[in-house]
Amino acid sequence: MNETILYIELIPPKGWNLFERYFLYIYNILTPAEENYLKAIYHLSGVSNALVTTNAIADQMDTKPSSVTDMVKKLADKGLINHKKYQGVALTDSGKKIALSIVRKHRLWEVFLLEKLNFAWDEVHEVAEQLEHVQSDKLIEKLDQHLGFPRFDPHGDPIPSRSGKILQVEKVLLSNCNAEDKGIFVGVNSSSAEFLQYLDKLKLVLGDRIEILFKESFDDSFQIATKDKSVTISGKAAKNIYIQKDEL
Ligand SMILES: [Zn+2]
Repeated sequence: MNETILYIELIPPKGWNLFERYFLYIYNILTPAEENYLKAIYHLSGVSNALVTTNAIADQMDTKPSSVTDMVKKLADKGLINHKKYQGVALTDSGKKIALSIVRKHRLWEVFLLEKLNFAWDEVHEVAEQLEHVQSDKLIEKLDQHLGFPRFDPHGDPIPSRSGKILQVEKVLLSNCNAEDKGIFVGVNSSSAEFLQYLDKLKLVLGDRIEILFKESFDDSFQIATKDKSVTISGKAAKNIYIQKDEL
């Protein structure tokens, strides 16, 4: 492939400097697999941009550490991650920008599927995993506008802005809460269909006000109360439920 021609043919967004235009070029030739790795590293590194180990990436991607090593080398060569031997990897600014744009596409598609096509909230993630790789900035901006510029996806996660800014929601896992804590159910740590269906069975909905009645130390389960019922949450589920605690 003639890389120079490919680069010249791209029209970078207004205001992007030459350095970013260069990465836009790279962006356009990233494979879905490469994009998925950037996204996984982004999710694993969290807000602090902490180093992520090869084993953690292998776990997240459900693949062998040796495959991760190959991909890490590729992404480092493209300037998208920094690799510190025996310590782990971190996204570069360019890598983070791309990861956030994939997360943005993913979450906007989830809103679209739920609101416009009447998918259930446990069905949207799998389809969005495919749609997030569609390469058209125009499509995504039109989608955003069509949806009325939503700020959160159906699982309560904030949608990054076009320029890559993302709201940091103060939230804690239910498993880290104590009896008498009160707050709002704002998000889930797992978008697996099984888990979301479990929440549907409990009739727990994002935005529900909850109060923790007690924590069972034997199995780490929680008894919680919403405005109209009291439910038991297993210890496993408590590790996947995010609460925004009331300010004391
Ligand atoms: Zn999702």
